[in-house]
Amino acid sequence: MRVAGVVQGVGFRPFVYRLATRHHLAGSVRNTSGSVEIDAEGPPESIEAFLGALTDEAPALARVDCVTAIEADPAGYEGFRILESQAEASASSVIPADVCMCPDCLREIGDPADRRHAYPFTNCTNCGPRFTIVQRVPYDRANTTMSGFAMCERCAAEYADPANRRFHAEPTACPECGPRIWLERDGITTESGALEAVGELLRGGAIVAIKGLGGFHLACDAANDDAVRALRDRKGRAAKPFALMVCDLGEAERLCELDEAARTLMLSHQRPIVLAAKRESTGISESVAPGNVYLGLMLPYTPLHHLLFEHSPPALVMTSGNLSEEPLTFTNASARAKLARLADAFLMYDRDIHVPCDDSVVRPTPDGAVSIRRARGYVPNAIEIPIECDCVLGVGAEQKNTFCVAWDRTAVPSQHIGDLDTAETLDYYRYAISHFLALFGREPKAIAHDLHPDYLSTRYAQDQPGVRLIGVQHHHAHIAACLAENGRTETCIGIALDGTGYGTDGTIWGGEILIADLADFRRAGHFAQVRMPGSEAAIRDPKRMAMAYLYAAFGDDCESIAQRFGLAWTPFERGILMHQLRTGMNSPLTSSAGRLFDAVSAICGVCRERSYEGQPAAELEMAADEREQGAYQGSVDPDGQINTLSLVRLVVEDRIAGVDNAVISARFHNGLVRLLAQACEKARHETGIGLVALSGGVFQNALILARLREELAQSGFEVLVHTLMPPNDACISLGQVVVAAARMTDEKGNNVCA
Ligand code: ZN
Ligand code: ZN
Ligand code: FE
Repeated sequence: MRVAGVVQGVGFRPFVYRLATRHHLAGSVRNTSGSVEIDAEGPPESIEAFLGALTDEAPALARVDCVTAIEADPAGYEGFRILESQAEASASSVIPADVCMCPDCLREIGDPADRRHAYPFTNCTNCGPRFTIVQRVPYDRANTTMSGFAMCERCAAEYADPANRRFHAEPTACPECGPRIWLERDGITTESGALEAVGELLRGGAIVAIKGLGGFHLACDAANDDAVRALRDRKGRAAKPFALMVCDLGEAERLCELDEAARTLMLSHQRPIVLAAKRESTGISESVAPGNVYLGLMLPYTPLHHLLFEHSPPALVMTSGNLSEEPLTFTNASARAKLARLADAFLMYDRDIHVPCDDSVVRPTPDGAVSIRRARGYVPNAIEIPIECDCVLGVGAEQKNTFCVAWDRTAVPSQHIGDLDTAETLDYYRYAISHFLALFGREPKAIAHDLHPDYLSTRYAQDQPGVRLIGVQHHHAHIAACLAENGRTETCIGIALDGTGYGTDGTIWGGEILIADLADFRRAGHFAQVRMPGSEAAIRDPKRMAMAYLYAAFGDDCESIAQRFGLAWTPFERGILMHQLRTGMNSPLTSSAGRLFDAVSAICGVCRERSYEGQPAAELEMAADEREQGAYQGSVDPDGQINTLSLVRLVVEDRIAGVDNAVISARFHNGLVRLLAQACEKARHETGIGLVALSGGVFQNALILARLREELAQSGFEVLVHTLMPPNDACISLGQVVVAAARMTDEKGNNVCA
């Protein structure tokens, strides 16, 4: 029998061994390249039952795609054996992602009679740390941060026993031989009762730095308003929502309305943070997610977390252990140095995290989950791409950076790195790239980068000696990523909506209709351009964008309208602002969709002070009344320009007429959806293309995503969306590698693979 699918590095051979033994079959099992081969000998009915169970009872992490079986003459095997095979080396070069604790291990740590009772580092072949502890390949214990812990006799026996759940479980450990936890507080270290003590500290309102799987968290009682506020103060984080870890699904249901999709995501072995609508009066501090209708919830994913909840409050803020904008802290030493002013105590352990990895974030929508941040649990899983390539490194964009390594038909995007605007993040970025290339044993033949000359990722690319550089336009990369993820290579209508991307004409793009395939694109349409008064200042201050749109839509009347809506500046500030708008001084043109959302959000008074990226748009979406079906009318000009100014005029009219913000916001969203659908109709009319790909951070907006998909589907378009990568700039690196691959393929004279 040959079993194909996800069958290596997931405990499949021990599973086959146990199954064969149960059915009294003789023979052997071994890994071959990419599949598992089984020789089994026994009565036909036993073979039949064995075959059925092979798929039905496969380990949780395995995915059996196909079993092919042929009959053979009996060879007279005795017993059943697991064989080491030639392909072993290549098989073990696959690095699995970290996996949440499995139910069997959970049962053990809860059983007072078990030798792993209450042990925070319990794991087995079906669960535990992987990517975050691997230092080099092959994936053996000696090449992980577990190498310093010599297995005790009992652990070694389990590790060597094919019938055991811990057969070749590389990070396996027990209280006798494995890592230990301790509490550090006021210079005093205590080992015994550390978890109880942390529980007590948290109940008393303290902030505790807790070492997790991929880095440190800062934790506090989510129901304690003073503690949550103190955490905001110390972290320098004004309003950006904090994620919560809750003790179990029951507590999650008490705090939020969860549908089936949300529950499934929460319980998945990746254990991401799941965004869900929060319920009223649950006792959770308003400061957890101020002005937000959602909470980000996750369930415990390590034994340490499970054990912690035996002593702590049922809902904890669990936010990344870092200073605002810096990368995640992941070593004990740097935690002591960097988090000392943020945390009242530290819960640490002596197993090192080799590579930091943030918690992943997903948003369930009626049409499927949208990834917001792809990291722990998902990385370093590969994405199959529809084009053959030499090794290419895509260095990503500037914000929400990821990078991506691709070879053959495989692309491996990195974990979320962050915004490349601090020296610390840049160091982490370089470290992560070299670690990734070493892990996969790859040396890039080409590096693909953004066209923006000032992105630190672009500069990084330019600093690499002797490698070919391929520049890829930002929004082309967005659309190529969406095509590639969906296994498509044909030409499509791409709608790329985001905040900022460097255009081929030197202006800032961000509301783009492209006709694109993997290799090339042309700009078929874009949002009407407006000025960004003060350049970067206009990104940070939505009021400036409000004035820019009011000026573009109403000319000099904008000042009286702004005054009427309470958009206030000092006379001096207003003077400069108007001068910038009239002359264009330090005020580049942009077709950005993000800036349009900023403007409308500020005009309506929904959000006028931005404290984190995307806040005005997120709050505008939350304000919308989903029952409202009205839509503002806009138009698409013959040259492809999308006239968004008419939407702004109608927003202003309704606001003067006293229409509620919930209605205005919905009509604006609906109007934008219609306008985009019109632009697609126009492009289809001109090109005959009926395939649409949606990408860019705006598609984290569930309202835009759902309504545009519906509208386009009704008009007979086929619509592609991101299902693996986030639609935001995290997907840029994937897009870069496929564009580079397509260009290199074209040069060789080969056709892009169908
Ligand atoms: Zn387990
Ligand atoms: Zn042991
Ligand atoms: Fe973008």
